[in-house]
Amino acid sequence: MEHHDKIMPRRFRGGLKLLPNKIQSTLTPIRHVPIPDRLVIPLCQHIGREAIPLVKAGDKVLKGQPLGAADGHVSAPVHAPTSGTVESIGMHPIPHPGGLSALCVVLRADGKDQAIDTGLACLDYLSLSPEEIQDRIQRAGITGLGGAMYPTATKMSKAEDRGIKALIINAAECEPIISCDDMLMREHADELITGIQIMLHAMSTPRALIGIERDKRRAITALEKALARIGDERIVLRKIYSIYPAGGERQLVQVLTGQEVPHDGFPQDIGYLSQNVGTALAIKHALIDGQPLISRITTVAGKGVHLPGNFEVRLGTPIADLVAACGGYRDGAEALVMGGPMMGFSLTDDRLPVIKGTNCIAVAGPGELEQTDFAMPCIRCGKCAQVCPAHLQPEELYWQIKGGDLDKAARLSVDACIECGCCDYVCPSHIPLAQYFRYAKSELSARDRQQQKAQLAKHRFEDRKARIRIGEDARQARLTARKKRLAEGSQQERERQIAASVQRAQAKADTGTEPDKDFGQ
Ligand code: SF4
Ligand code: SF4
Repeated sequence: MEHHDKIMPRRFRGGLKLLPNKIQSTLTPIRHVPIPDRLVIPLCQHIGREAIPLVKAGDKVLKGQPLGAADGHVSAPVHAPTSGTVESIGMHPIPHPGGLSALCVVLRADGKDQAIDTGLACLDYLSLSPEEIQDRIQRAGITGLGGAMYPTATKMSKAEDRGIKALIINAAECEPIISCDDMLMREHADELITGIQIMLHAMSTPRALIGIERDKRRAITALEKALARIGDERIVLRKIYSIYPAGGERQLVQVLTGQEVPHDGFPQDIGYLSQNVGTALAIKHALIDGQPLISRITTVAGKGVHLPGNFEVRLGTPIADLVAACGGYRDGAEALVMGGPMMGFSLTDDRLPVIKGTNCIAVAGPGELEQTDFAMPCIRCGKCAQVCPAHLQPEELYWQIKGGDLDKAARLSVDACIECGCCDYVCPSHIPLAQYFRYAKSELSARDRQQQKAQLAKHRFEDRKARIRIGEDARQARLTARKKRLAEGSQQERERQIAASVQRAQAKADTGTEPDKDFGQ
């Protein structure tokens, strides 16, 4: 049975042909990093709100036990990567382009690695409804493992209502040096297919397209064999050209389906939903093995370490332990980068923890690091626009952002920039364009958040004012009614007294005596 069809994949506009540079890290099978004595687990390892702490210092926890609960729809829980004692909860530096700190649970491991029964597993997952599966995926804390870290269950919710025609499995892994997905497919192909089958059921979607770069031959063979063994014709493998950034969500959808995702929309808007292969494997671990997301596969690459490779590592493990698992730093190791050479960002400290989005740690050796401190003026050569896969004018954006006009940058659709770094790569003036665009996007989104907050505060104030007005109106109405009642009561009383005195006078005139006081009542 053949599980890859004959449709020739289409290209997207722009992009670059880059040297993959992945051989070094794929020479050995996936290795395991020993569980460290102390793990630092950020409560926000996803897009959305930080998880709410469920534990306190001194608590004993088991592997897989929730440490933090999702706070709302766009959030995800966080679990204990091993058993041990909560040492503290506090602010710690996290891997972030802006060098931020975040609330973390510090866990002292007890070395037993004793697991809790999470209640996530259901071998007969077909007996569960799509909503029940999504609920388990959410409870397992699964987020996009390609680097985006968007909560997976949130992304797949209401897939049927939204008319999702196909699930797109992102197996492209187009950025140089990163090979964690490649190794995952080589070594866990059957489990990956199971994860895809679970997702198809969870989304009530009829088919899945796996998009993989043609040069990942061993992974392709492993997937073809797994598909032949499992025999699920809903799942189709499609080989695509190795052009960076073919693994970008929008680019992959376009390559696989021929349809372009609107720049102000999402693939879901045109009937496709994409997930990374790591995410599919995490879903299999949750629904079949009962294990929430507590570890991931991370590539360690670069000339700055002795034995690069891919590692199964518990979340919260210090990056220093990953480097140690590679035989340590080589002389002349210059810098640490999280991610690849195109989209990664520098880290200043190897004590930072591995998080859900850590797909790669690059340790740059001598001469490997791109020098960006000698940027020269833009010569308006236009090369950046030629390679931009998002159809932007990077040069124009650069001038506006440099001049401080973020509104103009917004009008020029800076938010459509996928930060792929293609423009940086070709710029003869070595201008770090993507950094400018990342800065502008974060400033604009902070401004949006601020405006939303102000809007919310205004609505709350107006609601409160309206409530006070309604209350005041009701009080006034009650007061008026009472006055009216009193006035009516006094009138009746006056009339009664007049009537009584008339009767008394009448009686006196008739009999010459005073009648009873209550006479005539
Ligand atoms: S590639 Fe660099 S120098 Fe050329 S137009 Fe773009 S920003 Fe300017
Ligand atoms: S970083 Fe942004 S502007 Fe530059 S090529 Fe990529 S998408 Fe285009």
